[in-house]
Amino acid sequence: MSAVCPFCSIASGKAQASIVYEDATVLVFMDLNPANFGHTLVVPREHWENIYEVPENVLADLFSVVKRVSSAAKKTVGAEGISILQLNGRAAGQTVTHFHIHIIPRFSGDAISKALGAMMEHHGLKNPEKSDLDEIAKKIRENL
Ligand code: 5GP
Ligand code: ZN
Repeated sequence: MSAVCPFCSIASGKAQASIVYEDATVLVFMDLNPANFGHTLVVPREHWENIYEVPENVLADLFSVVKRVSSAAKKTVGAEGISILQLNGRAAGQTVTHFHIHIIPRFSGDAISKALGAMMEHHGLKNPEKSDLDEIAKKIRENL
């Protein structure tokens, strides 16, 4: 538990949040500045900063809750899709350093589709050679 962490404060009951789900390991609440209607955050109760730190069994618990909440949120707000976003490190855009998974309901042509589309554009990496892909795949494989 980190004294200054907003998500630890919510987990310990010191700070308020609109809770969707909680169990011994996992907490789900509404994002304070939603990207879309029904935007929730799934967090472990315990303070881990990023995906490299969270134990695999906890990740499994978190993602089983992500699945349930995704279906419920989609149904609740009548979304056409769901984007699941998880950021690690400042370079990736992480602002709260307590691991969390965004569940964002999506609608065709919604305001964030442009931003996500831009993120998924393959800047400068279009049509790579198969040999380049094989090489980076081999290097990542060696680091597994
Ligand atoms: P990140 O960019 O780190 O993935 O996103 C952090 C998210 O947490 C943001 O979407 C932000 O709106 C949300 N957030 C930050 N502080 C609080 C808080 O105190 N309560 C709630 N409910 N959401 C928060
Ligand atoms: Zn924390």
